[in-house]
Amino acid sequence: MAIEDTLALAENLWQTLEQGWDKPTLENFQQKINQVYRQAGGEGKTRLSRLARNLAGYLQPLLNDDLPASTAQKGEIRAQLAALRQHLSQGTPLITASPTPAFIAEPEPEPPLIENIELAEPNRLIVLVDTNTTEAEVFASNIGHFGYKVEVFTSTEGVTEFCVNHRPGTIIVASEADKIDPAFFQTLNDRVARNIPLVFLSGRGDGFSRLQSVKLGGDAYFMKPVDIRELIDKLDNLTTPYLAPAYRILLVDDSTTAIAIYSDALNRAGMVTRVAADAEQLMLQLVEFAPDLILMDMYLQDCTGLELAAVIRQQASYVSVPIVFLSAETNLQKQLQAMKLGGDDFLTKPIAPEHLVSVVTARASRSRIVRSYIERDSLTNLYNHNRIKEQLEIEIIGARRKNTNLIFAMLDIDHFKRVNDTYGHHIGDRVLKNLSRFLLSRLRRTDFIGRYGGEEFAIILPDTSEESGLKVINRIREDFTKFPHYVQDTEFYSTFSCGMASLSNHKDSASLSRAADQALYEAKRTGRNRIRMTGMLNSEAFPAQR
Ligand code: GH3
Ligand code: MG
Ligand code: MG
Repeated sequence: MAIEDTLALAENLWQTLEQGWDKPTLENFQQKINQVYRQAGGEGKTRLSRLARNLAGYLQPLLNDDLPASTAQKGEIRAQLAALRQHLSQGTPLITASPTPAFIAEPEPEPPLIENIELAEPNRLIVLVDTNTTEAEVFASNIGHFGYKVEVFTSTEGVTEFCVNHRPGTIIVASEADKIDPAFFQTLNDRVARNIPLVFLSGRGDGFSRLQSVKLGGDAYFMKPVDIRELIDKLDNLTTPYLAPAYRILLVDDSTTAIAIYSDALNRAGMVTRVAADAEQLMLQLVEFAPDLILMDMYLQDCTGLELAAVIRQQASYVSVPIVFLSAETNLQKQLQAMKLGGDDFLTKPIAPEHLVSVVTARASRSRIVRSYIERDSLTNLYNHNRIKEQLEIEIIGARRKNTNLIFAMLDIDHFKRVNDTYGHHIGDRVLKNLSRFLLSRLRRTDFIGRYGGEEFAIILPDTSEESGLKVINRIREDFTKFPHYVQDTEFYSTFSCGMASLSNHKDSASLSRAADQALYEAKRTGRNRIRMTGMLNSEAFPAQR
């Protein structure tokens, strides 16, 4: 089912709710919105996905409430639903839904993402608001050199209208925020800015100005004089559709009721959950699921949550995973003891779902940031060499257990030395970042991408056949050859070669990565900008379309 159709079903359900409020319909409605969130995420439509997630989150408290929504709440839902529709039909003709009966709420299978990947084009239209005309021209031309189209406004007049009609990828405000009428930000926020990143360029670096920018909805803040490379890097990030993988939450609990309630609340907020009921399962899930956070019950069948926390903290790799205790325990002494043993927070049952979701979100997001310093490459923010190798081991174990296949690919940029020699090292870095973002936006959220070495990348495609792995990577290869890298007034193109190997032909990770490496070498030797897969087509070169 296309996103349009899912949204149309949701709109129908909303019509029903407007006529008469009832819980089952509301639940159905939220499910459809969640489905839009997942589908949009799967297709790399970040903003749409976020809008849907916001709406689903907004509906959550209403589901726990026995009263119908207030007029104001209904107004908000209507507005958010309209924003979804507008965002979806923006640029494409509005697809009118066939009148579908509102009550068909059949369970949808997850979309087969790998066959469905759209070319995720960065939105290169930038709105620049700068009351200083000369400065604005210089900025516009500097940013323009990197492939962005800049629309300059020397006052706030007409900006909101323009944004509504043209949906820029980013709005840059280069004048001091306090020199601009706050009403401008109000209307902008009301009408568009929740969907469009807002960047402030300011002459001041004090905390007050920064705070002010955050209050006005700013996503980034740069001090003047602006380092144009840093700004471009930020713009590249903000304008490329990419959805961070959902938070993974491990529930350690042995009560099926508790598990059902908490996983439901977390799933509705877009998180992925798994359950461990004892120490054995906990150990397994720690490795395989790599949770961002552990939600731990205090009392289990054979042991206490405190003991399990100690087991987790014994292992150096899991020292930083946040543990949040969840228990009916109100004894402060016991709570403090839980914290001493490595707990990060203590929540008392019963807990309102919004409260649970907000604590878990905050902790999980911090934990990701902390962990990224250890396991990510600082230039591209992809997994580093060690981490991607570790992930390969983990995925192989998972694949064997589930009896599925796995593809390992190694990519190397062609003649990369020439890029450095011709344009300079920092443009080389930019190509590396462009390729990273390109891969992130094109692969599934369940795939793993790492920077293996200098201009070499490794990709793990779990649960993938040789044919579809080859198809997907080859499409990425083809599309990447058309991806422009901008430098001053020119653009250039880059290619990569790739070696692939399938787990079905190999016994362990060492043999698998050796084979991919060998295949990469063959791809290079036979002319570059092509893919080789060992064990397939008798190791013949995959025909490279140039
Ligand atoms: P081939 O097609 O055979 O792969 O040729 P190549 O030029 O890409 O390969 P070679 O291994 O000869 O050169 C790789 C270059 O990548 C050399 C090194 O300076 C550059 N490089 C490695 N890491 C980085 C980096 O982080 N940033 C930049 N800008 N360059 C890097
Ligand atoms: Mg190379
Ligand atoms: Mg190399």
